[in-house]
Amino acid sequence: MKPKAAIEPVATEAAHLVDRLERLARAGEQSGGLNPAQWDALRYLARANRFSRTPAALAEYLATTRGTVSRTLASLEEKGLIARLASDRDGRSVDFDTTKAGRALLAEDPLAQIAADIAQATQNDARLFADLLQRVLRAALARNQGRAFGICRTCRHFRRDAANGAQGPHHCGLLDVPLSDADSARICAEQSPAAA
Ligand code: SF4
Repeated sequence: MKPKAAIEPVATEAAHLVDRLERLARAGEQSGGLNPAQWDALRYLARANRFSRTPAALAEYLATTRGTVSRTLASLEEKGLIARLASDRDGRSVDFDTTKAGRALLAEDPLAQIAADIAQATQNDARLFADLLQRVLRAALARNQGRAFGICRTCRHFRRDAANGAQGPHHCGLLDVPLSDADSARICAEQSPAAA
């Protein structure tokens, strides 16, 4: 068996820092009348593209069960923060989207405080930091057989400026649909990272 590579102490320290940050981010999530799971779901629906706003995709993104997600979505719907829509792809399925009230609440998202801390620590140049975290996340997802849920424009199926339709200008080579500029910045359940 191949011996495991030694883990340098600073990598372990970095893992503890990520863990501590996650706890601090969660501690700020008792605001806006939502619990942490409800914040997670609301954020996901605001960031996901139109092919990915289903209970099944949300359950996979959050690594939780369909039952838990159903209860979370029902609470958000009751609060008027999300709305249920008939799926235009599958008549038996439903999609969800944020409402105006949901988007207004997201303007007060407590996670923005951590984002501000990152912006300050990186002097407003967080690209490298985000790329490194993305690589760490990919490795963890690969070990757990999870999907990437990455941003559309970084997908190997994304075809920039390849659509002719009014919904363009881009195109998805997997789903064969036009994609707008706004679509290209959203996360997708089908995303498959392009080779680096
Ligand atoms: S290009 Fe990739 S990420 Fe974008 S919609 Fe298609 S499958 Fe999803």
